[in-house]
Amino acid sequence: MKTARIPIAGKEFPIGKILCIGRNYVDHIKELGNETPAAPVIFMKPATSIIGDGDEIVIPPYSKNCHHEAELALLIGTGGKNIPVDETLSHLAGYGVAIDLTLRDVQDDLKKRSLPWEIAKGFDTACPLSDFVPAGTISDPQQLQIRLSVNGTLRQDGSTALMIHTVTQIISHISSIFTLEPGDIILTGTPAGVGPLVPGDRVCAEISGVGSLTVTVR
Ligand code: ZN
Repeated sequence: MKTARIPIAGKEFPIGKILCIGRNYVDHIKELGNETPAAPVIFMKPATSIIGDGDEIVIPPYSKNCHHEAELALLIGTGGKNIPVDETLSHLAGYGVAIDLTLRDVQDDLKKRSLPWEIAKGFDTACPLSDFVPAGTISDPQQLQIRLSVNGTLRQDGSTALMIHTVTQIISHISSIFTLEPGDIILTGTPAGVGPLVPGDRVCAEISGVGSLTVTVR
């Protein structure tokens, strides 16, 4: 079983569901030519898609275009349903760094045919995830710098200030649809600069005050 760790607090949670927000940064919506959604776009990854710092990404043979998406990850510590926006932060255990790996060619084909995205988003190794820092150590989750580099070259450099739906709005909205439980993880979308990965690449994602995550592509 996969676990989410908060080493500073000595806490560990078995990972439940991984809920992801798509199209949450205006600049990223523009680069993919998507429309700005009225409500957050939500999809899920299975816990089996998680790998940790230092692990290897394995791109499935049915794709020739695997993209990186660096994202702020939220770890739920206290469960809830219909959580009001102003109470959401008390349900949060920690913040982490995630990479939402996306098989862009497969996803584009699925979008065209109005089919679900799981095989483009939920394959084994599709969710590199760092350890978490306690939620209380981050004073403002909407003022964090997100960066991702590939082989030392900066590809993504954005701020959580550019999110369309904020962390508290996302938790509240998601909890109106899915009961949240301790160990659930929420990925909050990616800023601009997504791009392809190829075998041998070394990928480093970093969020100011939260941590970093380095993985390689087999
Ligand atoms: Zn994403």
